[in-house]
Order: sequence, then structure tokens, then C-alpha cells
Amino acid sequence: MPPSLKHLSICLLLLLTPDISVAEQSLAIGKGERLLVLAPHPDDESLSAAGLIQQVLQNGGTVRSSVVTAGDAYVGAVMLDSGKRNPSTADYLDFGEKRLEESRRAAQLLGNGFIHLDLLGFSDGSIYSALISHWRRNQPMRSEYTGFDHVPYREAEDRGLAQDGQDLLNELVAILRDTKPTIIAFPDVMENDSDHAGLGMFTLLAVHQWLLETPTPHPQPKLLAYLIHWQHGWPTGSNWGIAQDWSDQPLVLPADLPLRGHSRACVNLSPAQIDLKRAALAEYKTQQRIMGDFLSAFVRSSECFTLLKPNDGNRIEQVLAQLRQVRKTFDNHPLSRRKI
Ligand SMILES: [Zn+2]
Repeated sequence: MPPSLKHLSICLLLLLTPDISVAEQSLAIGKGERLLVLAPHPDDESLSAAGLIQQVLQNGGTVRSSVVTAGDAYVGAVMLDSGKRNPSTADYLDFGEKRLEESRRAAQLLGNGFIHLDLLGFSDGSIYSALISHWRRNQPMRSEYTGFDHVPYREAEDRGLAQDGQDLLNELVAILRDTKPTIIAFPDVMENDSDHAGLGMFTLLAVHQWLLETPTPHPQPKLLAYLIHWQHGWPTGSNWGIAQDWSDQPLVLPADLPLRGHSRACVNLSPAQIDLKRAALAEYKTQQRIMGDFLSAFVRSSECFTLLKPNDGNRIEQVLAQLRQVRKTFDNHPLSRRKI
């Protein structure tokens, strides 16, 4: 093909190729919002929503942050922390205590004492198991790392609670009842990590149950699904092996994350909010030691979410359809998807 024709065909191709980028709206934060952030592990609340948390507080709102597990089964990090090639159950428990304490310090810093923090203290890895195979209280999930089938941590909110799906769902519904959130930030069901995807499903189930028992007209909280774990090294720099400064760049949700008929919404962080997000994440010393590159890849000039349509939490058919989709995906990749 002559160069001029080749050039023309490339131009035509560019013109005709549909724009696959997804429009991202700016997230409106009203006065006096009640934000609930649900996190599978200590650090997920800061990675996903440290900027949103600050903006809600600065707008006269309240923030509750509920961290479901102690993140106690991150084997590589426990080996590093304990200095043992084969850590004992006591080492895993000790590591869990440390991560819970890191969460306390990060919340204190981020909210200057104004964040209502719940550390439920479930075992790492228990969320998806509780959803899929340990729903009933008489068959709770026993952690192969800590050896416990109930919450073992002294200072956890749920100490002694069995690690089963029904009890976790009850806990989340109780938190919703108590908080009456106007914004809920929670992990996307498409997350590339089983606890994250599992908590995404639990959130939708809990919101559905809460709205069912709430007198009409139902509140319509904004449902913000966040993404922490994805494929192909997203976000850029998260697997570079060395922490970089990405704070002058926005967080762009991956193009191959299905939109599913929803929209996307972002908050832009001021330099001071970025600094405080970085400082909160610095409190997670056990994580910085082993995945500083990953944590720093989320310290950016924006935080972006998939904004579910208001009635999504109120349509059980859709929730169940998503559950089936998640189960199918995980059945195909049961181990490689389990990361943290
Ligand atoms: Zn996590």
C-alpha cells in the first residue's frame, strides 16, 4: 500500500474506532454525609478511600470504617515478620494483632480521632469461604493458619463470633442499621481476590436485607464499588518492585473492568489529602515492608469508583446473578486469584 494510502487508512481507522474510554463523573459529596467504608483487610480502607474519607469529614459528615479480617494469612509477610520459614499459629495470630493495631493508627491519623472504626477480626481468607461453603454457624470456617474457627483477637469487635456466612451477614446488617449510611464504599464483586469479591457480595446482600426491613421510602445510599486487585499489573507501578511517586497522576479504572451498565465516579484529592493518604498507608509497616510498590501505586491525585445504580442493592435477582458469576469465575481460578 502506498504510504499516503496507508496514512489515510490509519486516519480512517482512528476516526471509526469507537471511543472505549469510559466517562468518569465527579462524585458529589453533600453536607453531612454518613460514609461507611467496608474493607476486607487492614489497609484496604485507606487504599480505596482515604481521600473520600477526608472529604466527607471536611464537609461535616461522619465516617465509619469496618475492617472484616485481620489479614493474618499473608504467608510471605508473616515469614518476613517472624523471621521463620515455617511460622507457627502463634506467629500468624501475632501478625494479625499487628495489622489490627496498624489499622487503628491509620484511622486515628486519617480522621484525627473522628473515624468510627470496627475491627471485626475474622480470619484472613474466611470471607469467600463463609459465602460459598461455610454459611451456617454449626460449620464455621477454620483458618489453617491461626487454627481458629471463631474470632480470636482480644480487641476485635467480634471476639468469639463463629466464622460463618450468616453471622457475618448479620454483623454487616447491624452496622448498616446503626449507621444509616448515605454513601457505602465497598469492594467490587469483580475484584481479583477472593476476600475482596466475597465482601462485595456480602455488602450487596446486607444492603438488600437492610433496605427490605427499612420503612418506605427506602434510603438510597450511593453504592461505590472500589477496585484494589486486578490483572495485568494494574494500577501501573503496583508490581514494579520499588515504590514510586504516582501522586501527580489520577487513578484510572482499568479499561477491561466490565462497566455492567453502571457509571464511574471519582474524587480529586488536594495535595494535603494526598499527603495524609500517604501518611495513613505508611502506618501499615508490615505491608510497606513487603509491598511498598503496591501501596504507593494507589497514592494518586484521584480515587475512582464504579457507581452502582441506586436500586442495585435492592434487586436480589441481580445480586444472585452476580454471585453466580463470581462463583463461576472463582471455580475456574481458585488459587491464582487468592492473593492477600
Ligand atoms: Zn485486601
